[in-house]
Amino acid sequence: MKLDIVIPIYNEEETLPFLHDRLVKVCDALPDTQWRVIYVNDGSTDQSLEIMVKQRETDPRFAIAELSRNSGHQAAITAGLHHSSGDAVIVMDGDLQDPPELIPELISCWRGEANVVMARRRSRRDKGLRRVGFNLFHRVFTWITDFPVPPDTGIFGLLDRQAAEELKRLPEQNRYFPGLRSWVGLNQQVVYYDRDERGGGKPKQSLKRLARYALDAVFSFSYKPLRVMTSAGIVISAVGFMLACFFIIKRLMGVEVAQTGFTTLVTLMLFLGGIQLIAIGLVGEYLARIYDEVKQRPLFIVRQTHGLEKTGRNGG
Ligand code: UDP
Ligand code: MG
Repeated sequence: MKLDIVIPIYNEEETLPFLHDRLVKVCDALPDTQWRVIYVNDGSTDQSLEIMVKQRETDPRFAIAELSRNSGHQAAITAGLHHSSGDAVIVMDGDLQDPPELIPELISCWRGEANVVMARRRSRRDKGLRRVGFNLFHRVFTWITDFPVPPDTGIFGLLDRQAAEELKRLPEQNRYFPGLRSWVGLNQQVVYYDRDERGGGKPKQSLKRLARYALDAVFSFSYKPLRVMTSAGIVISAVGFMLACFFIIKRLMGVEVAQTGFTTLVTLMLFLGGIQLIAIGLVGEYLARIYDEVKQRPLFIVRQTHGLEKTGRNGG
């Protein structure tokens, strides 16, 4: 059987040598498997590309797709999927946070009839704000999404050919890979693992990028923000209407209406103005994403490949 391992790489010169050694060790031990690594070089500016090319020279089972510039983690994964052709495709990060030693377990789960195998984190070793952010995101996302996605799963996992082909058909611009993978359905299984620390270097996705990724996840898989705003509007209007009735009746009954203070008025005005702006912002988030879809720009541009057939826009 043929196995492809897709790995996005952006400035990973520190980890690439270790990644290579651990992958070779694990994959060579797989029975009856013809394996291939597809590195997607996402516009690295350090020595990563040179290191990958060297690895390929000594071991042609390592192939490379070079993107035209840094296009982001999700675009790089998509590019890798479009270049894959194996019976199964494993997607994993290149920083050794996803341990290659889990590959045999992913494969045995797939052999047991699963179309999609997701690696779910039992624990993680990220620190500080990232850790808080990741945990918060998974809690909030599980609550907010209209579509069930197992929590604590990232991109790490295995897709069989059918699942990979179905995923390739999804042309979304702002992608949340774990959500799309769940959306495809078929027979999905979970295996558990402990997420390691980075093999070296600093995280390559800035907190800003991660925040954007989190928003993509929410807005691609939930209409709840819009519904919450509608509900808030209904509640506020109802309260306003009742207050109006209350004051009219009081006036008709000749009861003196208390003077409303300046402070109350200003507070109310700012509060309602704020809510309105938030609501417009939320609509804008959806609108901006629609705009991205309408433009239909390709998700990635391939500059050059080493040992792969070049695939164009979204594989088309
Ligand atoms: N990566 C990429 N393009 C980017 C940022 C990151 O291809 O613009 C790769 C990176 O080299 C690594 C993987 O995506 O292999 C995950 O990145 P990182 O470890 O920075 O993300 P985190 O673990 O914080 O989610
Ligand atoms: Mg990482």
